[in-house]
Amino acid sequence: MRTVSEHPRHAPAHYTALPPCVDISGQSGGIPFPEYTGSGVPLAAHPFAPHKITSRWTLEGRCGACGSDHTLCIYLSYIGGVGTGQDMTLELVCQDCGKYTVETYLD
Ligand SMILES: [Zn+2]
Repeated sequence: MRTVSEHPRHAPAHYTALPPCVDISGQSGGIPFPEYTGSGVPLAAHPFAPHKITSRWTLEGRCGACGSDHTLCIYLSYIGGVGTGQDMTLELVCQDCGKYTVETYLD
């Protein structure tokens, strides 16, 4: 699922003041819950390497408004693992049109 908005929905309002990628991971019900936010890194360069997590999703990293791949990942969360469901949320900011795209992947 992909949602476009004018303002960040997951990253904090002051995200541009943060370092490019901050690890804010914690736990969710005793399960490790990787979570990152920041002023943004290209998805392919993200330390969590979401493109390597699963071959079941195609992580395009494209702007939902203009289709540009000139985006930065400003939020990522992931929960799941082998034998369980997986749930990843990405937020991208487009460097061409300035819109925010939230992508949610579930399986
Ligand atoms: Zn765009």
